Formats: sequence, structure tokens, C-alpha cells
Amino acid sequence: MPNFNVPDDVFEAAASQYPTPFYLYDEADIRETVRLLYQAFAWARGFKEYFAVKALPNPEILKVLLSEGCGLDCSSETELLMGRRLGIRGEDIMFSANAMPPHEFALARSLNAYINLDDPSDIMTLHDNGGIPETISLRVNPGPEVMGDNQFMGNPRESKFGWMPKDLPEGLMKLKNLGARRFGLHAMLASNSLDANYYPVQADYLFGLGLELQEQTGLELAFINLSGGIGIPYHPGEEAVDILAVGQAVKEAYLRRFGENGTVEIKTELGRFVTGPHGFLVTRAVHLKDGHKVFIGLDAAAANLMRPAMYGAYHHATVVGKEHLPHTLIADLTGALCENNDKFAVDRALPPIELGDLVILHDAGAHGWAMGYQYNGRLRSAEVLRQPDGGFRLIRRAETPEDYFASLDVGGV
Ligand SMILES: *Cc1c(COP(=O)(O)O)cnc(C)c1O
Repeated sequence: MPNFNVPDDVFEAAASQYPTPFYLYDEADIRETVRLLYQAFAWARGFKEYFAVKALPNPEILKVLLSEGCGLDCSSETELLMGRRLGIRGEDIMFSANAMPPHEFALARSLNAYINLDDPSDIMTLHDNGGIPETISLRVNPGPEVMGDNQFMGNPRESKFGWMPKDLPEGLMKLKNLGARRFGLHAMLASNSLDANYYPVQADYLFGLGLELQEQTGLELAFINLSGGIGIPYHPGEEAVDILAVGQAVKEAYLRRFGENGTVEIKTELGRFVTGPHGFLVTRAVHLKDGHKVFIGLDAAAANLMRPAMYGAYHHATVVGKEHLPHTLIADLTGALCENNDKFAVDRALPPIELGDLVILHDAGAHGWAMGYQYNGRLRSAEVLRQPDGGFRLIRRAETPEDYFASLDVGGV
């Protein structure tokens, strides 16, 4: 894997141009990662990565990905509308959600998107809201009888997603009677998995299931969607997934199942893997507290990056210009929210920190800004793109109190 490294002077230059906190994304590194993914699946017919919009829903980033040949994986009306505003439709959109409101099906149909059904009851909802397309995708939940407590995600019985395998033949026959001719299969059995076997195991399961269903229903198996879930090394000691080796292992399973002349296409919906390592939350130390413990208050809060508070997730933190110093300070990095889980790090070994130091939270390029919220009236951050020529471009301004108050404008009163 290439060594992606954004040097400290880049953060300094960006922070001299934009007030902290803000997200900084590196366009060249995003492009390089998505090219590596396409290289890994260069053998596969009709390969397409549908970037999971929910991971980083900024149209400027999506444009970068679209220019690399990606489509978009949309899961809500707003995400579909974002795709529409970017001028994409048809096979460039995968619409996949759970408990979908009927009008969202109708919107997806009007864009002629691929639609991925989550449940048998979705068939008639789709039929009545835009109609059954010629190619339809189904999301499968293999259940404990297939993989037991699968090694990647825990008990599939607890997962709210996907069809039970036993319902698939009948569902597909029904879809056939309503006009479907080709089908895709989708499963997402992991989240943030660093296990190189995740995609190959999932692929082999879906390949086998797809062949069986093709045989049983006479519908043509059009594509297998391996979905998202490949992880990134959040901890300094972890190794990135070797995506080229993963692509090779999926190819071996493909050849075993379909042979050299297989026509089934491969799709993916990676989010985190593509942009996660290439985004940073750039913050400043604004408060130092030497209490029962040492607390370093940053000008960002969990409202800007929720993963540590929500999942106890680790994000590596560095202090600009000080990483060469001994990390003898043991401190919590906190935000200003009135909740004690508003901490980016607990008991972290850090170099000495002074007021005004830039503190960088790494690997925040996916499910970072996107999960931001407004608790305590702390508003969402700006987003800045570092372009391949080294220049910076503001791709989203920071929210202001006016944005917060805008939804109160309901007329009258
Ligand atoms: C969230 C999600 C993804 C992307 O997940 P990552 O962990 O970011 O790769 C892809 N597909 C579906 C259906 C999802 O819900």
C-alpha cells in the first residue's frame, strides 16, 4: 500500500487560511486509493465502486469520485437528490436502505437507479411506487445457519438488514412475474473489518447463492454487490488491508464459481476504505485543565466528530510541530459539550501541549463530518479540500447560528 502522509506544514498552512475547527481532505490521496481499488478489480467485468454517500456527503468529494468512474450508493431521499444535483442517474446510482418510505422508491425509480430491496414486503411497495425495474437487487442476511456468528460482524440474527435466504426464491419469482429479468445480490457482513478474508468469504457465499437462485428462478444473475465494510488502520500499530490481494482472492472465488467466461459483474460500496484515511479534523487546544486528570479542551467537540463518543472509537491525535518530542503528557482530549463522553481521547500519551497548538484528529474522512450534529448549539464544521496542486479550497462553510435558527422559521408567530 502507498504511504499516505500529510506533513505538518500542510495543516499549518490550512489553519492559517481557515479558522479551526475544520475538516481537511486530501484529493490526491483519495484518487490514489480509489485507483488502487479499481486496479484490484481490473479483472472483473463491469466493476463499479458505488461510493457510500453517507460516509462523506460532500458534492465536491463526490465529483472527484465520479470523475474516477465511481457511482454513488444512496440511502435516503436527500442522498438521491444530491446525486440528481450532480447530474447522475441510471446505473450510476445504487439505492439501498432499510425501512424505506414509499416515496423514496418512487424517486429512485424516476432516476432509473439500481434498487436494492431489503425485505420481501418491499416488492409491492416498489411495484406501487414507480414499478418493478428490469434489473433488481436484493440484500441478503445469511443468518446464523449459514455462517454462525460470522467472524466479522457478530450475530446476524440481531441485524435489521436484509432478506432471510429462505425467502429469496419466492421473492424472485414474484419479481419475475412483475417484469424483472435480471437480479443482483448484496450482503454486508462486516463493518470496519481489517480481515483480508472478509470480501473473499462474502463473495464466495454470494456467488454460490446467486448461482442457485439463477437455476431455481430462471432469472439472470447480473451482479454481485460486495457492499462496504473494509476497514482502515485507525491505530498506529495496525496494517492497512492489501486491497490488491483481496481483489485476487475474490477473483479466485469467481473463477471457481463462474469460470473464465463468467458474465456476472462485481460491484462494491466502500465508504470508509476510500476516504477514511484522507480526512482530518483540524482543531486547536483552547483550554488546559489540570484537575483530577489533565484535560486538554479543543475547539471541536463530539458534535463535529462523534465516533469516539458513540463507539469508543480510537482516532489517532497528533500535535503539529511537536511529534518529535517525548510523549510524556497523559491527558484526555475533550470538547466543550455538557456531556462527559465528549472526549476524543482518554489517557492518551501526547507531547507537551500549549494553548493555541494545532491538534489533528486523524482518519476522520469517513463517518466524520457526516455524523455531526448540533447538540448544545455546537454547529457543524467547515470542510476544506487540499487539491493535487497543494492549494486549498473551501467546499463547505461552517454552520452559523443563523443556520441553526433557520428551521424555526415556520411562518406565523
Ligand atoms: C454504510 C454502508 C456502506 C459503507 O460502509 P463503509 O463501512 O463506510 O465501507 C456500504 N453499503 C451499505 C449498505 C451501508 O449501509
